[in-house]
Amino acid sequence: MRKPLVGINMKNYINTRKETAEWLESTIPLLENFSNVDTFIFPSMGTLETTATILANRSFGFGPQNMAPERSGPLTGEFSVESIIDLKANYVEIGHAERKNIFHEEQNQIAKKIKLALDAKVTPVVCIGEQIQATNRLDLKAALQPQINALFREIALSEWQNVVLAYEPEWAIGKAVSADTTYIENAHQTLRDIIREIGGNDSLVRIIYGGSVSKENAAEIVRQKNVDGLFVGRFGHKPQNFADIVAIVSQMKG
Ligand code: PEP
Repeated sequence: MRKPLVGINMKNYINTRKETAEWLESTIPLLENFSNVDTFIFPSMGTLETTATILANRSFGFGPQNMAPERSGPLTGEFSVESIIDLKANYVEIGHAERKNIFHEEQNQIAKKIKLALDAKVTPVVCIGEQIQATNRLDLKAALQPQINALFREIALSEWQNVVLAYEPEWAIGKAVSADTTYIENAHQTLRDIIREIGGNDSLVRIIYGGSVSKENAAEIVRQKNVDGLFVGRFGHKPQNFADIVAIVSQMKG
């Protein structure tokens, strides 16, 4: 019922238009046989226009790694939803751990961004995750529930199906290996429980895992029932590695 989804966050790793174009031109043909999986890229912000040109009219989605909390106005250095619409981008990354921890982005701003994206019919990929590894499911729920409550207070339950949740435990980002797969499944199940308890239909919400995903651990992670896909970082910088991860998801979830 939920279409599998694989995305990549380029952060500030591949920053020139030339390198981004090369990555896209190499990757696009490798994804041709996996139409049963949705794919998207959040390129380095300075390469968005190049990305938009290359991906125009393709099924490979794209968008910025962040967005301003208001449609327009005195918000120096921010990226407006109006630019997203102008670029015909279809996704936006919201509330990544690095935005919160380095740039002090707050929950109320993130909540506004989600609403703005949904109103503009752009899919928000909303990052959720605890800072410290939980020791049991109760602790995990206690860490995740306030985030969901704060971020989605203004969002109608009928809009939930248009949101992608990226479960990214902060302690597993930028590491050699991902979180343990049982832990990952517990977290996804917990997020589904929370959505259901507030009256949402969790069976319509796509939840993907991010945090040191690689072609080596992708199969074990997507084998988990409540995981709908993967959010890739460093280990997707080689086009073939990203394509291998999409292929794994296609075979196991498609
Ligand atoms: C991320 O931080 O969103 C991410 C996917 O990074 P990595 O896989 O490099 O940990």
